[in-house]
Parts: sequence; C-alpha cells; structure tokens
Amino acid sequence: MSEEPLSILTLHGTQASSCGYCGPPGGRSSSRSYISIGATPMQLSCSVYQKMIDRGWRRSGQYVYKPTMIQTCCPQYPIRLDALAFEPTRNQRKALYRFNRLMIAGEDGEDENGGDPVSKEGVKTKEQNEKGTNPKGKVKPKPRKQEFSLVDAVHEPEVAFRTEDAQPARHKFEITLESSTFTQEKFKLYKDYQFHVHKEEEKQASSFKRFLCDTDLPRTPIAYAGSPGKHLPTHYGTHHQLYRIDGELVAMSVLDILPGCVSGVYFMYSNKWEKCQFGKLSVLREAALAREMYAAGLPNLKWVYLGFYIHSCQKMKYKGDYSPSYLLDPETYEWFPMKDCTPELDKFRYACFADPSHSINELRNPNVPDIAQDDLKDVFVVERLSGSTASGGLTAVSLAEVSPRYWRVYKEYFLQTIHELGMDLSMEVFFSL
Ligand SMILES: [Zn+2]
Repeated sequence: MSEEPLSILTLHGTQASSCGYCGPPGGRSSSRSYISIGATPMQLSCSVYQKMIDRGWRRSGQYVYKPTMIQTCCPQYPIRLDALAFEPTRNQRKALYRFNRLMIAGEDGEDENGGDPVSKEGVKTKEQNEKGTNPKGKVKPKPRKQEFSLVDAVHEPEVAFRTEDAQPARHKFEITLESSTFTQEKFKLYKDYQFHVHKEEEKQASSFKRFLCDTDLPRTPIAYAGSPGKHLPTHYGTHHQLYRIDGELVAMSVLDILPGCVSGVYFMYSNKWEKCQFGKLSVLREAALAREMYAAGLPNLKWVYLGFYIHSCQKMKYKGDYSPSYLLDPETYEWFPMKDCTPELDKFRYACFADPSHSINELRNPNVPDIAQDDLKDVFVVERLSGSTASGGLTAVSLAEVSPRYWRVYKEYFLQTIHELGMDLSMEVFFSL
C-alpha cells in the first residue's frame, strides 16, 4: 500500500446537531441531540478509510464522522451484507425477474411463475441444461426449483450482456460505472428524486456536488489477481453507477469501492420508474459486483456495506432485509449476526452485542480515557513550519513533543478522536488542527 497517499485528518472534535431520525410525528427534525465526532480529511487513503468504516466512521462528501453511540438518541450501527453468502429472498428475486421481464419482453405485471425465471428469456436454466429435450416422449419431470445465479440474473437485461441468440430486448438497459464527476444529467435526477421522494424543492447544484460528487478518496489502481471483466472497476475510490433505460438516466448509485467492500453511499431513482423497485435491485446489483470482484482475484472483497442501520427508524429498517448481514459492535468493533442483534435492540436504545450488560436506555457521556501526553509519542500532528508560505512547508510533530500550552488547549480534541479511531489507526494517520 506504499503507493497510497498519507491520510491527514483535520479534527473538528465533538459536534452536536438535532437528530433527523426521531422527533415529533410529522415533524422534519427534533430537538433531541445527535452527537458525533467529525473530521475533514486533507487526504485520505482508501485503505485507511476502510479501517475507519470498520470502526463506525462514515463519509459525507469531504467530511468524515462517527456517531457517539452512547450519547445519541438514535444510534447508528454500521451494517454489512455478506455478498458471497447472500441469498435474496423470494420477494427480492421476484423484483429482479419482474424488472428483467419488463426490460426484455416489455411485459409488466404479476408473475404467474412465482418469481422464478422463465426460460424464454434467453438464459438457460440448470434444469434445461441437464435434462435437455425429451426424445423418448416420456412424461416430463415436474419442473423443479431452478438454481439461482445472482450475477447472471442481474446482468441478464443489460445490453452489454445480451447474447446474439437471446431474444432481442424491448428496452435498451445500460449500466456504467464512472468516477463521481458532476454532470447536469445527474443533478437533474437528484433534484427530481428529492422532490418526489423527500418532498424537498430547490436543491442547489452546489449541495449535490458537495454531498455526492466531492470525495477525498483518491483513485487507486486495483490489482486483481485474475482477469476482471470489462465492466468491473479499475480503481478503488468513489464511483457513480448509472442506470440508463433507452438512453435516459433513470437511477444512480454513489459507491465507495474499497479494498474490503462495496460501500453504498446513496441511491436515487426517477419516479417514472418507481414500479421497478430500484432501491431493492440496487442492493442485489452491489452484491453481484462484490462477488464478481472477489471472483476476479480480490479475496478480501466480499462485503456490501449498507451504511448505518437505525433500529428506531422505520425508514432505515429495510437494510435488515438482506441476509446474512451483520452489525458492528459499538465497543469491541466486532461484527455480530443481525438476527442476534435485534432482540437486544428491541430492549435497549444503546445495545452492546459483545457485552449485553453494557446496553442502556438512557443517554450517557462517553467514557474517553485520559492518556498522558508522554504516551502519545507515536501520534503525530501536522504543523506548518514557521515562516513558511501558504504552499508546502508542512512538518509532523509527535504529540509527546507539542508545548504544554498547546496540549492543554487541544487535548480534548485529540483524546476524543483517538478514542473513536483507536490507537492503531491514530498512529497510522496524521492529525491536523
Ligand atoms: Zn433521534
């Protein structure tokens, strides 16, 4: 990882704002407190960010933050889906086949086949391959449940994957993966989505750009051990995955592709195609992407991170519908199977899965351990060399060597952030004020 840039975090310390997840019925926000630790990276490598999200941090544009779980009314648990073991439910498969049939045959309607693929759609099922035709005129065996291939099913309607002998598709469905640049086309989709889904008007291009285009993650080449398909990403970093039907942009995923996961940042779609259940399909597509990257020789890339799971927020609960998924323990940072977490979350606002005796309902101040300045000799803060001009002239100073006055003033900032990052990661990054 020596080709990666250093990670430098400008610290903001504890941030308090009103919680957007709970509050009075019908209200848009509440007075209850949402507490987090924040930082603005000057630079951030993809591998350091991977380690940060594995400790409960998350990126929003060019800002990284971690909710202070014990002090926040609606704790946010990082949730990840095991892409390799993922088995879509019957309902999820049904949404996918329905969409495929709509793109290929132009048919839209209830599925008399119970959500399983129909053979006329070009992809041979396992049953057909094994049994072939029935030359002796014997009674045909009853069709059994066909083997489901997530990757095949996801790609089936895509122009780039239609074979010559397949039925010509009614709609031209295209998927492209590109860097997170701003375009008017993407912004228009975002504005429409905000209006139809979140009932918000007057979204500014600048806020779309800041929130969903700007990123600190550098494009870092991916070293596949095998040979990746042409549609797979060549770089880690922030991507836009564009869905086009007959040339029109109808949906878009914002994805951080990292050494250990595909991390979903945001998803938006056109209300014209609302019936397609794109939100559901996007998770299936992201799981297929992780599987294909893994198969192309990235043995660590086997997860889809779905952002934060908020048990107290009905709108966020859908994230638990993909299985098997895991939640991050807020104290030990180990992952626990979702099914073991929900009983604890039903009982407590703040749930500690590793040690349920720590679970509580009340709000509490975090217990940030005091660390002596002398014990922080391997943690560095970036400072501008005195007398240098605005460009360059940076140096790194060990926290054990900063002046006592400086330490008195900024100690809280450093200790809070070190507590949330952990000592190993604090020694790997550089702090800045
Ligand atoms: Zn709340």
